[in-house]
Amino acid sequence: MPDVSPPDASPPVASPPVLRFAPSPTGLLHVGNARTALLNALIARRRGGTFILRLDDTDAARSRAEFADAIAADLDWLGIPPDIRVRQSDRLGLYAEAAERLKAAGRLYPCYESEEELDLKRKLQRARGLPPVYDRAALRLTEAERSRFAAEGRAPHWRFLLAHRDVAWDDGVRGPQRVDTASLSDPVLVRADGSFLYTLPSVVDDIALGVTQVVRGEDHVTNTAVQIEIIEALGGTPPLFAHHNLLTLPSGEGLSKRLGHLSLSALRADGIEPLALAAAAVLVGTAHAVQPVASLDELAAVVDLASISRAPARFDPQELAGLTARTLHAMPFAAARARLLAQGIEGGEAFWLAVRGNLARFEDAAHWWRVCRQPLANAAAPEDAAFLADAAALLPPEPWGEATYGAWIAALKAASGRSGKALFQPLRRALTGADKGPELAGLLPLMGRARVDLRLRGSEKPL
Ligand code: GLU
Repeated sequence: MPDVSPPDASPPVASPPVLRFAPSPTGLLHVGNARTALLNALIARRRGGTFILRLDDTDAARSRAEFADAIAADLDWLGIPPDIRVRQSDRLGLYAEAAERLKAAGRLYPCYESEEELDLKRKLQRARGLPPVYDRAALRLTEAERSRFAAEGRAPHWRFLLAHRDVAWDDGVRGPQRVDTASLSDPVLVRADGSFLYTLPSVVDDIALGVTQVVRGEDHVTNTAVQIEIIEALGGTPPLFAHHNLLTLPSGEGLSKRLGHLSLSALRADGIEPLALAAAAVLVGTAHAVQPVASLDELAAVVDLASISRAPARFDPQELAGLTARTLHAMPFAAARARLLAQGIEGGEAFWLAVRGNLARFEDAAHWWRVCRQPLANAAAPEDAAFLADAAALLPPEPWGEATYGAWIAALKAASGRSGKALFQPLRRALTGADKGPELAGLLPLMGRARVDLRLRGSEKPL
Protein backbone atom coordinates (compact mmCIF):
# COMPACT_ATOMS: atom_id res chain seq x y z
CA MET A 1 0.00 0.00 0.00
CA PRO A 2 1.70 3.29 -1.03
CA ASP A 3 2.05 5.96 1.56
CA VAL A 4 -0.41 8.70 0.54
CA SER A 5 0.62 11.23 3.15
CA PRO A 6 2.68 14.16 1.79
CA PRO A 7 6.42 13.56 1.92
CA ASP A 8 7.20 16.69 3.97
CA ALA A 9 6.27 16.91 7.60
CA SER A 10 3.44 19.45 7.09
CA PRO A 11 2.37 21.23 10.24
CA PRO A 12 -1.07 20.25 11.49
CA VAL A 13 -3.84 22.36 9.95
CA ALA A 14 -4.25 25.33 12.26
CA SER A 15 -7.72 25.85 13.68
CA PRO A 16 -9.36 29.20 12.95
CA PRO A 17 -7.53 32.00 14.74
CA VAL A 18 -8.99 34.21 17.45
CA LEU A 19 -7.87 37.85 17.46
CA ARG A 20 -8.89 40.84 19.48
CA PHE A 21 -8.80 44.62 19.36
CA ALA A 22 -8.50 45.96 22.89
CA PRO A 23 -8.91 49.72 23.12
CA SER A 24 -9.54 51.56 26.33
CA PRO A 25 -12.66 53.72 25.98
CA THR A 26 -10.83 56.86 27.02
CA GLY A 27 -11.01 58.80 23.74
CA LEU A 28 -11.99 58.62 20.09
CA LEU A 29 -10.25 56.05 17.91
CA HIS A 30 -7.69 57.52 15.52
CA VAL A 31 -6.15 56.24 12.32
CA GLY A 32 -3.41 54.40 14.23
CA ASN A 33 -6.03 52.57 16.29
CA ALA A 34 -7.83 51.74 13.05
CA ARG A 35 -4.60 50.16 11.77
CA THR A 36 -4.51 47.83 14.78
CA ALA A 37 -8.22 47.03 14.60
CA LEU A 38 -8.12 46.34 10.87
CA LEU A 39 -5.04 44.14 10.99
CA ASN A 40 -6.69 41.95 13.63
CA ALA A 41 -10.10 41.91 11.93
CA LEU A 42 -8.73 41.23 8.46
CA ILE A 43 -6.48 38.37 9.58
CA ALA A 44 -9.51 36.83 11.32
CA ARG A 45 -11.63 37.38 8.20
CA ARG A 46 -9.12 35.87 5.82
CA ARG A 47 -8.71 32.74 7.88
CA GLY A 48 -12.31 32.22 8.96
CA GLY A 49 -11.46 33.19 12.53
CA THR A 50 -13.08 35.24 15.28
CA PHE A 51 -12.62 38.96 15.88
CA ILE A 52 -13.22 40.15 19.42
CA LEU A 53 -13.72 43.72 20.63
CA ARG A 54 -12.46 43.91 24.19
CA LEU A 55 -12.99 47.20 25.99
CA ASP A 56 -10.15 47.72 28.44
CA ASP A 57 -12.19 49.78 30.87
CA THR A 58 -10.75 48.84 34.25
CA ASP A 59 -9.69 52.47 34.70
CA ALA A 60 -13.11 53.64 35.86
CA ALA A 61 -12.02 57.25 36.22
CA ARG A 62 -10.98 57.65 32.57
CA SER A 63 -13.33 55.20 30.80
CA ARG A 64 -16.54 56.65 29.40
CA ALA A 65 -19.65 55.03 27.97
CA GLU A 66 -19.81 57.50 25.08
CA PHE A 67 -16.31 56.51 23.95
CA ALA A 68 -17.31 52.82 24.14
CA ASP A 69 -20.30 53.62 21.90
CA ALA A 70 -18.12 55.63 19.53
CA ILE A 71 -15.65 52.72 19.23
CA ALA A 72 -18.46 50.32 18.31
CA ALA A 73 -19.80 52.83 15.75
CA ASP A 74 -16.32 53.31 14.26
CA LEU A 75 -15.81 49.55 13.82
CA ASP A 76 -19.22 49.26 12.14
CA TRP A 77 -18.36 52.16 9.84
CA LEU A 78 -15.04 50.53 8.92
CA GLY A 79 -16.96 47.36 8.07
CA ILE A 80 -15.41 45.24 10.80
CA PRO A 81 -18.12 44.73 13.42
CA PRO A 82 -16.76 42.34 16.06
CA ASP A 83 -18.00 38.76 16.36
CA ILE A 84 -17.77 38.97 20.14
CA ARG A 85 -17.77 41.99 22.48
CA VAL A 86 -16.52 41.95 26.05
CA ARG A 87 -15.95 44.61 28.67
CA GLN A 88 -13.29 44.14 31.30
CA SER A 89 -15.41 45.90 33.92
CA ASP A 90 -17.80 42.91 33.64
CA ARG A 91 -15.01 40.43 34.30
CA LEU A 92 -13.33 41.67 37.48
CA GLY A 93 -14.08 38.39 39.28
CA LEU A 94 -11.91 36.50 36.80
CA TYR A 95 -8.96 38.81 37.43
CA ALA A 96 -9.36 38.54 41.21
CA GLU A 97 -9.40 34.76 40.92
CA ALA A 98 -6.24 34.81 38.77
CA ALA A 99 -4.54 37.11 41.29
CA GLU A 100 -5.35 34.63 44.08
CA ARG A 101 -3.87 31.79 42.06
CA LEU A 102 -0.68 33.75 41.48
CA LYS A 103 -0.49 34.58 45.20
CA ALA A 104 -0.95 30.90 46.09
CA ALA A 105 1.85 30.00 43.67
CA GLY A 106 4.15 32.58 45.28
CA ARG A 107 4.24 34.67 42.09
CA LEU A 108 2.35 37.73 43.40
CA TYR A 109 3.80 39.46 46.45
CA PRO A 110 2.71 42.43 48.55
CA CYS A 111 4.71 45.67 48.47
CA TYR A 112 4.27 48.69 50.68
CA GLU A 113 6.51 51.36 49.17
CA SER A 114 4.87 54.69 48.46
CA GLU A 115 5.34 56.43 45.09
CA GLU A 116 7.80 58.80 46.77
CA GLU A 117 9.87 55.95 48.20
CA LEU A 118 9.98 54.25 44.80
CA ASP A 119 11.00 57.52 43.16
CA LEU A 120 13.81 57.96 45.61
CA LYS A 121 15.06 54.41 45.03
CA ARG A 122 15.13 55.01 41.27
CA LYS A 123 17.01 58.28 41.69
CA LEU A 124 19.63 56.59 43.85
CA GLN A 125 20.01 53.75 41.37
CA ARG A 126 20.47 56.19 38.50
CA ALA A 127 23.01 58.16 40.51
CA ARG A 128 25.01 54.96 40.94
CA GLY A 129 24.72 54.20 37.22
CA LEU A 130 22.35 51.28 37.84
CA PRO A 131 19.19 50.60 35.84
CA PRO A 132 16.06 51.70 37.76
CA VAL A 133 14.82 48.17 38.37
CA TYR A 134 12.73 47.44 41.45
CA ASP A 135 15.04 45.92 44.11
CA ARG A 136 12.47 43.47 45.51
CA ALA A 137 12.92 44.89 49.01
CA ALA A 138 9.34 43.86 49.80
CA LEU A 139 10.31 40.20 49.50
CA ARG A 140 12.63 40.64 52.46
CA LEU A 141 10.00 42.07 54.80
CA THR A 142 9.44 40.08 57.96
CA GLU A 143 5.99 39.06 59.19
CA ALA A 144 6.34 41.62 61.96
CA GLU A 145 7.04 44.42 59.51
CA ARG A 146 4.06 43.42 57.40
CA SER A 147 1.79 43.37 60.46
CA ARG A 148 3.06 46.81 61.45
CA PHE A 149 2.22 48.20 57.98
CA ALA A 150 -1.21 46.61 58.21
CA ALA A 151 -1.74 48.13 61.66
CA GLU A 152 -0.74 51.52 60.21
CA GLY A 153 -3.51 51.05 57.63
CA ARG A 154 -1.04 50.73 54.72
CA ALA A 155 -2.61 48.49 52.05
CA PRO A 156 -0.13 46.68 49.80
CA HIS A 157 0.09 46.83 46.05
CA TRP A 158 1.02 43.54 44.40
CA ARG A 159 3.92 42.71 42.12
CA PHE A 160 4.43 39.72 39.87
CA LEU A 161 7.65 37.83 40.65
CA LEU A 162 9.45 37.56 37.33
CA ALA A 163 11.43 34.34 36.84
CA HIS A 164 14.52 36.23 35.63
CA ARG A 165 14.91 34.09 32.57
CA ASP A 166 15.21 34.50 28.84
CA VAL A 167 11.77 34.86 27.28
CA ALA A 168 11.71 34.42 23.52
CA TRP A 169 8.99 34.81 20.92
CA ASP A 170 8.90 34.95 17.16
CA ASP A 171 7.27 38.30 16.46
CA GLY A 172 5.08 38.36 13.35
CA VAL A 173 6.51 41.74 12.32
CA ARG A 174 9.87 41.97 14.09
CA GLY A 175 11.09 38.40 13.85
CA PRO A 176 12.79 36.52 16.71
CA GLN A 177 12.82 38.48 19.98
CA ARG A 178 14.51 37.66 23.25
CA VAL A 179 14.24 39.46 26.59
CA ASP A 180 16.00 38.59 29.85
CA THR A 181 13.34 39.42 32.43
CA ALA A 182 16.08 40.03 35.01
CA SER A 183 16.44 43.39 33.27
CA LEU A 184 12.86 44.33 34.16
CA SER A 185 11.09 45.47 37.32
CA ASP A 186 8.59 43.02 38.74
CA PRO A 187 5.39 44.57 37.36
CA VAL A 188 2.65 45.84 39.64
CA LEU A 189 -0.50 43.92 38.75
CA VAL A 190 -2.86 45.08 41.51
CA ARG A 191 -2.99 48.58 42.99
CA ALA A 192 -3.31 49.25 46.72
CA ASP A 193 -7.02 50.01 46.25
CA GLY A 194 -7.51 46.52 44.76
CA SER A 195 -7.94 47.76 41.18
CA PHE A 196 -6.07 46.07 38.35
CA LEU A 197 -3.53 47.62 36.05
CA TYR A 198 -3.76 46.70 32.36
CA THR A 199 -1.43 43.68 32.40
CA LEU A 200 -3.27 41.02 34.41
CA PRO A 201 -6.76 41.57 32.94
CA SER A 202 -5.26 41.53 29.46
CA VAL A 203 -3.54 38.17 29.83
CA VAL A 204 -6.42 36.63 31.78
CA ASP A 205 -8.78 37.59 28.96
CA ASP A 206 -6.40 36.41 26.27
CA ILE A 207 -6.35 32.99 27.96
CA ALA A 208 -10.08 32.87 28.77
CA LEU A 209 -11.17 33.96 25.30
CA GLY A 210 -8.78 31.59 23.55
CA VAL A 211 -6.90 34.38 21.77
CA THR A 212 -4.38 32.79 19.41
CA GLN A 213 -2.76 35.89 17.94
CA VAL A 214 -2.14 39.36 19.34
CA VAL A 215 -1.44 42.10 16.81
CA ARG A 216 -0.81 45.47 18.44
CA GLY A 217 1.36 48.55 18.30
CA GLU A 218 5.06 48.36 18.99
CA ASP A 219 4.55 50.49 22.10
CA HIS A 220 3.61 47.15 23.68
CA VAL A 221 6.76 45.20 22.77
CA THR A 222 8.22 45.80 26.19
CA ASN A 223 5.12 44.27 27.83
CA THR A 224 5.32 41.04 25.93
CA ALA A 225 8.01 39.17 27.85
CA VAL A 226 6.21 39.95 31.11
CA GLN A 227 2.89 38.86 29.67
CA ILE A 228 4.33 35.59 28.40
CA GLU A 229 5.67 34.85 31.90
CA ILE A 230 2.29 35.59 33.50
CA ILE A 231 0.38 33.54 30.92
CA GLU A 232 2.66 30.58 31.61
CA ALA A 233 2.37 31.07 35.38
CA LEU A 234 -1.42 30.83 34.94
CA GLY A 235 -1.07 27.62 32.91
CA GLY A 236 -1.98 29.24 29.59
CA THR A 237 -0.31 29.01 26.19
CA PRO A 238 1.08 32.31 24.90
CA PRO A 239 -0.55 33.52 21.67
CA LEU A 240 1.51 34.53 18.65
CA PHE A 241 2.58 38.15 19.02
CA ALA A 242 3.11 40.76 16.31
CA HIS A 243 3.94 44.40 16.98
CA HIS A 244 3.31 46.78 14.11
CA ASN A 245 4.95 50.16 13.62
CA LEU A 246 3.08 53.20 14.83
CA LEU A 247 1.62 55.94 12.63
CA THR A 248 2.55 59.57 13.17
CA LEU A 249 1.26 62.91 11.94
CA PRO A 250 3.12 64.34 8.92
CA SER A 251 5.14 66.38 11.44
CA GLY A 252 6.38 63.14 13.01
CA GLU A 253 4.36 63.71 16.17
CA GLY A 254 2.74 60.54 17.54
CA LEU A 255 -1.03 60.14 17.28
CA SER A 256 -2.91 60.65 20.49
CA LYS A 257 -6.40 59.49 21.34
CA ARG A 258 -6.48 61.95 24.19
CA LEU A 259 -5.60 64.88 21.93
CA GLY A 260 -8.15 63.76 19.33
CA HIS A 261 -5.65 63.46 16.42
CA LEU A 262 -7.10 62.15 13.16
CA SER A 263 -10.17 60.67 14.81
CA LEU A 264 -12.26 58.33 12.71
CA SER A 265 -15.42 60.23 13.56
CA ALA A 266 -13.96 63.50 12.26
CA LEU A 267 -12.76 61.82 9.06
CA ARG A 268 -16.19 60.23 8.62
CA ALA A 269 -17.83 63.65 9.04
CA ASP A 270 -15.46 64.97 6.35
CA GLY A 271 -16.85 62.43 3.88
CA ILE A 272 -13.83 60.12 3.88
CA GLU A 273 -14.82 56.68 2.60
CA PRO A 274 -14.26 53.87 5.13
CA LEU A 275 -12.65 51.69 2.47
CA ALA A 276 -10.22 54.48 1.55
CA LEU A 277 -9.35 54.99 5.20
CA ALA A 278 -8.92 51.24 5.66
CA ALA A 279 -6.59 50.94 2.67
CA ALA A 280 -4.50 53.87 3.88
CA ALA A 281 -4.39 52.74 7.52
CA VAL A 282 -3.36 49.18 6.63
CA LEU A 283 -1.00 49.77 3.69
CA VAL A 284 0.94 52.86 4.81
CA GLY A 285 4.36 51.95 6.17
CA THR A 286 4.40 48.53 4.49
CA ALA A 287 6.02 47.14 1.36
CA HIS A 288 2.69 47.67 -0.48
CA ALA A 289 1.77 50.93 -2.21
CA VAL A 290 -1.20 52.76 -0.72
CA GLN A 291 -3.95 52.41 -3.32
CA PRO A 292 -7.72 52.03 -3.40
CA VAL A 293 -9.22 48.59 -2.87
CA ALA A 294 -12.61 47.34 -4.01
CA SER A 295 -13.46 45.54 -0.78
CA LEU A 296 -12.17 44.61 2.66
CA ASP A 297 -11.71 41.07 1.35
CA GLU A 298 -9.28 42.42 -1.23
CA LEU A 299 -7.43 44.27 1.52
CA ALA A 300 -7.47 41.18 3.74
CA ALA A 301 -5.82 39.22 0.94
CA VAL A 302 -2.81 41.57 0.88
CA VAL A 303 -2.36 41.98 4.63
CA ASP A 304 1.09 40.69 5.37
CA LEU A 305 2.56 41.32 8.80
CA ALA A 306 6.06 40.53 7.61
CA SER A 307 5.89 43.37 5.07
CA ILE A 308 5.29 46.02 7.76
CA SER A 309 8.28 48.27 8.15
CA ARG A 310 10.05 48.64 11.48
CA ALA A 311 10.16 52.43 11.37
CA PRO A 312 7.19 54.62 12.34
CA ALA A 313 5.12 55.60 9.31
CA ARG A 314 3.98 59.15 8.58
CA PHE A 315 0.30 59.37 7.80
CA ASP A 316 -0.73 62.19 5.50
CA PRO A 317 -4.45 62.94 5.92
CA GLN A 318 -4.34 65.04 2.71
CA GLU A 319 -4.13 61.82 0.73
CA LEU A 320 -7.45 60.58 2.04
CA ALA A 321 -9.56 62.88 -0.13
CA GLY A 322 -7.93 61.62 -3.33
CA LEU A 323 -8.10 58.03 -2.15
CA THR A 324 -11.78 58.53 -1.32
CA ALA A 325 -12.52 59.83 -4.82
CA ARG A 326 -10.64 56.95 -6.46
CA THR A 327 -12.44 54.46 -4.22
CA LEU A 328 -15.82 55.90 -5.27
CA HIS A 329 -14.93 56.01 -8.96
CA ALA A 330 -14.37 52.25 -8.95
CA MET A 331 -17.05 51.30 -6.43
CA PRO A 332 -19.35 48.55 -7.72
CA PHE A 333 -23.08 49.20 -7.52
CA ALA A 334 -23.52 46.34 -5.06
CA ALA A 335 -21.38 48.22 -2.55
CA ALA A 336 -23.25 51.48 -3.07
CA ARG A 337 -26.81 50.19 -3.35
CA ALA A 338 -27.92 50.25 0.30
CA ARG A 339 -26.34 53.64 0.91
CA LEU A 340 -28.05 55.13 -2.15
CA LEU A 341 -31.42 53.78 -1.04
CA ALA A 342 -30.82 55.17 2.45
CA GLN A 343 -30.53 58.61 0.81
CA GLY A 344 -33.74 58.04 -1.14
CA ILE A 345 -31.88 57.56 -4.42
CA GLU A 346 -33.70 55.01 -6.51
CA GLY A 347 -31.82 55.33 -9.77
CA GLY A 348 -30.33 51.86 -9.49
CA GLU A 349 -27.17 50.75 -11.23
CA ALA A 350 -27.68 53.02 -14.26
CA PHE A 351 -27.60 56.09 -12.02
CA TRP A 352 -24.60 54.89 -10.03
CA LEU A 353 -22.54 54.09 -13.10
CA ALA A 354 -23.50 57.44 -14.62
CA VAL A 355 -22.33 59.52 -11.65
CA ARG A 356 -19.72 57.61 -9.63
CA GLY A 357 -16.82 58.90 -11.74
CA ASN A 358 -17.69 62.46 -10.71
CA LEU A 359 -17.98 61.99 -6.98
CA ALA A 360 -15.51 63.47 -4.54
CA ARG A 361 -17.66 62.28 -1.63
CA PHE A 362 -20.44 59.74 -1.56
CA GLU A 363 -22.90 62.43 -0.49
CA ASP A 364 -22.38 64.19 -3.84
CA ALA A 365 -24.53 61.47 -5.42
CA ALA A 366 -27.58 63.15 -3.86
CA HIS A 367 -26.86 66.30 -5.85
CA TRP A 368 -26.83 64.44 -9.16
CA TRP A 369 -29.99 62.58 -8.22
CA ARG A 370 -31.76 65.88 -7.65
CA VAL A 371 -30.45 67.06 -11.04
CA CYS A 372 -32.07 63.98 -12.58
CA ARG A 373 -35.35 64.12 -10.75
CA GLN A 374 -36.14 67.61 -9.46
CA PRO A 375 -36.35 71.03 -11.04
CA LEU A 376 -32.90 72.60 -11.11
CA ALA A 377 -32.19 74.82 -8.14
CA ASN A 378 -29.77 76.98 -10.14
CA ALA A 379 -31.32 76.96 -13.60
CA ALA A 380 -30.05 80.03 -15.43
CA ALA A 381 -32.00 81.63 -18.25
CA PRO A 382 -30.75 79.87 -21.40
CA GLU A 383 -28.24 82.06 -23.25
CA ASP A 384 -28.62 80.12 -26.43
CA ALA A 385 -32.40 79.83 -26.56
CA ALA A 386 -32.78 79.27 -30.30
CA PHE A 387 -30.17 76.54 -30.41
CA LEU A 388 -31.67 74.86 -27.35
CA ALA A 389 -35.16 75.01 -28.84
CA ASP A 390 -33.77 73.27 -31.95
CA ALA A 391 -32.18 70.70 -29.68
CA ALA A 392 -35.52 70.13 -27.97
CA ALA A 393 -37.26 69.67 -31.29
CA LEU A 394 -34.75 66.97 -32.24
CA LEU A 395 -35.17 64.91 -29.06
CA PRO A 396 -35.88 61.29 -30.04
CA PRO A 397 -39.08 59.70 -28.83
CA GLU A 398 -38.99 57.50 -25.75
CA PRO A 399 -38.08 54.84 -24.68
CA TRP A 400 -34.62 56.23 -24.02
CA GLY A 401 -31.58 54.10 -23.48
CA GLU A 402 -27.81 54.08 -23.84
CA ALA A 403 -27.86 54.98 -27.52
CA THR A 404 -30.30 57.89 -27.23
CA TYR A 405 -27.75 60.60 -26.52
CA GLY A 406 -25.46 59.63 -29.38
CA ALA A 407 -28.31 59.63 -31.89
CA TRP A 408 -29.62 62.97 -30.65
CA ILE A 409 -26.20 64.67 -30.71
CA ALA A 410 -25.52 63.38 -34.24
CA ALA A 411 -28.82 64.86 -35.45
CA LEU A 412 -28.20 68.14 -33.63
CA LYS A 413 -24.68 68.42 -35.00
CA ALA A 414 -25.93 67.96 -38.54
CA ALA A 415 -28.80 70.41 -38.11
CA SER A 416 -26.86 73.16 -36.31
CA GLY A 417 -23.41 72.76 -37.82
CA ARG A 418 -22.01 73.15 -34.31
CA SER A 419 -19.39 70.94 -32.72
CA GLY A 420 -17.17 70.80 -29.67
CA LYS A 421 -17.77 73.22 -26.87
CA ALA A 422 -20.32 75.29 -28.80
CA LEU A 423 -22.41 72.19 -29.20
CA PHE A 424 -22.02 70.58 -25.78
CA GLN A 425 -21.66 73.41 -23.30
CA PRO A 426 -25.11 75.03 -23.75
CA LEU A 427 -26.70 71.60 -23.48
CA ARG A 428 -24.85 70.73 -20.30
CA ARG A 429 -25.66 74.08 -18.72
CA ALA A 430 -29.32 73.89 -19.59
CA LEU A 431 -29.68 70.28 -18.50
CA THR A 432 -27.60 70.25 -15.32
CA GLY A 433 -27.15 73.88 -14.31
CA ALA A 434 -23.36 73.38 -14.26
CA ASP A 435 -20.38 73.43 -16.60
CA LYS A 436 -19.00 70.14 -15.40
CA GLY A 437 -20.44 66.84 -14.38
CA PRO A 438 -21.17 63.27 -15.38
CA GLU A 439 -21.56 62.27 -19.03
CA LEU A 440 -24.92 63.50 -20.30
CA ALA A 441 -25.34 60.19 -22.12
CA GLY A 442 -25.82 58.47 -18.77
CA LEU A 443 -27.96 61.19 -17.20
CA LEU A 444 -30.41 61.72 -20.05
CA PRO A 445 -32.39 58.47 -19.69
CA LEU A 446 -32.61 59.13 -15.93
CA MET A 447 -34.04 62.59 -16.49
CA GLY A 448 -36.60 61.41 -19.01
CA ARG A 449 -37.76 63.14 -22.18
CA ALA A 450 -40.37 65.43 -20.60
CA ARG A 451 -37.90 66.99 -18.14
CA VAL A 452 -35.16 67.34 -20.74
CA ASP A 453 -37.59 69.00 -23.12
CA LEU A 454 -38.73 71.51 -20.46
CA ARG A 455 -35.16 72.35 -19.46
CA LEU A 456 -34.06 72.93 -23.02
CA ARG A 457 -36.99 75.27 -23.56
CA GLY A 458 -36.20 77.05 -20.30
CA SER A 459 -39.67 76.32 -19.01
CA GLU A 460 -39.03 73.86 -16.19
CA LYS A 461 -40.64 75.25 -13.07
CA PRO A 462 -37.80 76.32 -10.79
CA LEU A 463 -37.55 74.71 -7.39
N1 GLU B 1 -5.73 48.56 26.05
C1 GLU B 1 -4.43 48.37 25.48
C2 GLU B 1 -4.16 49.53 24.53
O1 GLU B 1 -5.09 50.16 24.08
C3 GLU B 1 -4.40 47.03 24.77
C4 GLU B 1 -3.05 46.57 24.39
C5 GLU B 1 -3.08 45.15 23.89
O2 GLU B 1 -3.49 44.97 22.73
O3 GLU B 1 -2.72 44.23 24.61
O4 GLU B 1 -3.03 49.83 24.22
